[in-house]
Amino acid sequence: MKRFFVLFAFATLIMSISSCKKQADVTDNPFFEQEWATPYGVPPFDRIRMEHYAPAFERGMSLHNEQIEAIVSSNEEPTFENTVLAYDNSGEMLSRVATVFELLASAETNDQMQAYASEIFPRLAAHYDAIAMNDALFERVKQVYESRVAQSLTGDELRLTEKMYEEFVRSGALLSEEDKAKLSQINEQLSALSVKFGQNVLAETNAFTLEAELDELDGLPTSARDAAREQAKSMGKGDKFVFTLQKPSMLPLLTYAQDRSMREKIYKAYLARGNNGNEYDNNQIVADMARLRYEKARLLGYDSYAHYVTSNEMASSPEAVYELLEGVWTPALERSKQELERMMTIFRRDYNNGEPFESWDWWYYAEKVRQADYNLKEEEIRDYFSIDNVKGGIFFLCNRLYGITFRPLKAPVYHSECEVYEVIDNNDQPLGALYMDFYPRPGKSGGAWCGSYVEQSYKDGKRVLPVSTIVCNFTRPVGSSPALLTIDEVETFFHEFGHALHNLFAEVKYRGLAGVEGDFVELPSQIMENWALSPEMLRQYAVHYRREEVMPDELIKKIQRTKTFNEGFNTTELVAAALSDMDIHSLQSAEPISASEFEREALTDRRGLISQIEPRYKYTYFSHIFDGGYSAGYYFYIWAEVLDKDAFQAFVESGDLFDRATAERFRREVLARGGSRDGMDMYRAFRGADPDKQAMLVARGLVEEQVAEVEPLPIKELTRVDTREQARQRAERSRQEREAARQAEADSLAAIERAQAE
Ligand SMILES: [Zn+2]
Repeated sequence: MKRFFVLFAFATLIMSISSCKKQADVTDNPFFEQEWATPYGVPPFDRIRMEHYAPAFERGMSLHNEQIEAIVSSNEEPTFENTVLAYDNSGEMLSRVATVFELLASAETNDQMQAYASEIFPRLAAHYDAIAMNDALFERVKQVYESRVAQSLTGDELRLTEKMYEEFVRSGALLSEEDKAKLSQINEQLSALSVKFGQNVLAETNAFTLEAELDELDGLPTSARDAAREQAKSMGKGDKFVFTLQKPSMLPLLTYAQDRSMREKIYKAYLARGNNGNEYDNNQIVADMARLRYEKARLLGYDSYAHYVTSNEMASSPEAVYELLEGVWTPALERSKQELERMMTIFRRDYNNGEPFESWDWWYYAEKVRQADYNLKEEEIRDYFSIDNVKGGIFFLCNRLYGITFRPLKAPVYHSECEVYEVIDNNDQPLGALYMDFYPRPGKSGGAWCGSYVEQSYKDGKRVLPVSTIVCNFTRPVGSSPALLTIDEVETFFHEFGHALHNLFAEVKYRGLAGVEGDFVELPSQIMENWALSPEMLRQYAVHYRREEVMPDELIKKIQRTKTFNEGFNTTELVAAALSDMDIHSLQSAEPISASEFEREALTDRRGLISQIEPRYKYTYFSHIFDGGYSAGYYFYIWAEVLDKDAFQAFVESGDLFDRATAERFRREVLARGGSRDGMDMYRAFRGADPDKQAMLVARGLVEEQVAEVEPLPIKELTRVDTREQARQRAERSRQEREAARQAEADSLAAIERAQAE
């Protein structure tokens, strides 16, 4: 996650065609050109060389500073045009080079780029921080903000002004000098603690290994044994088998090891990370960070840190988040208890002396149930998911829903494996361009993500066409067979395509209005996953790569049935972590806490968490919230799922999953608007109602499909505003982190599935 934070912190800087004055020292450096004479204005990858970045960054930063200086030193009264708009338009050249560098630093990097990245990213952070702390700039923005009524600002102009003002305020611009100093001291402490927290988790994760002999590995499939053997070899212990606390190593052991003591040893070690009373102990750091965040929130005028964070999100208050989480908690816990009961029938055959079922038994017995009650073989399914079939399926879906078409485009690429398409709108006009880069390579980061080489914007009243990119790490083709995707890879492909559509459909007037709330950002992507495995879509694209037969109905039914398997457990451990996150960030006192007592009191004593399930993360290794961008935001996962499942219901209710009118409404009210309206307003405009969590509960198999009395999410009371680079960076950061987390979990699942296939 940390790596993604660093690499992606600037991924969303808008790149549009620079309006800066043509430089006198024009060289052959493409970043110094005003426009790129390429199809759709894509970056001229064939001409960009490593030595172009440094001068472009330098020039970009100094130009940006000059632009800010020009705004600040103006003798004119501050107006929307000379201040807010000028600031919104500033820094284009910097954004352009940063965007290309940033995206390539993850998709096609090398040692030289990595070395330069570690030099330039901290400098960029400092550059943007200095602007955020520029009192004179804030003073002018404030004057526009305060006279916004007198200046008759409305619509996008008003929203941009308010967002910009709030961005400064949330960073402490209204504080007294004394409080500003306090705040920056807190920020510094927090950032140092956060680094230490991450290093401790890493050290604790790496410190533990479990060595095993062959006879202790009964039950493990060959692939898991081979991986453990490889691990041992890499550590110079070639005669042993070694397991680590990384999930791809640990989960197969938990899932298959007949030797119960092996499962117990590894899981206990996993849970104890950062809580071993040694030099890597995170308890004090957790307590200190909770206190400092509380103090920061108080300084900025909020009751708690959770109030501070959520006030800028769609949820808008911790209460709204709790209402959702508690509402999911109860049925999820009930469902887990049923799952436990089913597992107990098998467990009792193995242990009939009254031994308790423990948390390290869950994966093992869940797998036993899966084999007994389901019987779905991943390998059997993959033959229907050749990459071209899946891609064709997605193109088909986009065409049915939105009337858009995709045509191969001859354009510069950064690697020969990239595919480029032009996207043509339903009125035959060009909409944008799309890069796709599917397979792992040295030099590509793990995971899957979507970014923009050129973000949609307006220049001289004309829409600048967006250039989006999808980067994945799918299974490569083997021999003469095409690449055959796993179920998870298929869903990932649909997911990232949803982000790309969000970029491509954007019709946003100002760059500062491009970003959406963190708990909204996964709606466009996650909704696409609903189509991926629907029977209607499978019949369209799931065709056997050799036999050319459409997937049989029996197999389609099996896929549908497996969807809710073990979802009680999955949901409970996820929501437990989300509750832990909200709990610790809702503290309204600076009293020190004991992390483990605090967790036990909240989850076990108060909410009845059963001993057989641990939260997905415990505080002492909860990197998302202490070393990532998720503090008081781990709920995003489940919040976005409420949105995507409920939004998909609009298609279901129309009686046609490909209903054009519903799709057009989704495009118009949600996908086209960027952050030019609040997420909740966009959602209501599309759905005609508040999001209802019922569809999510049904999809996870937590309640029966029926019309039930469900409390809608509360209406947001205040118009919240967000800030420009921060909002965009935060939204993108959390998205990228989620993609990374998602891939990490996918890797674990894939490890299990590979093992299962044997
Ligand atoms: Zn995503």
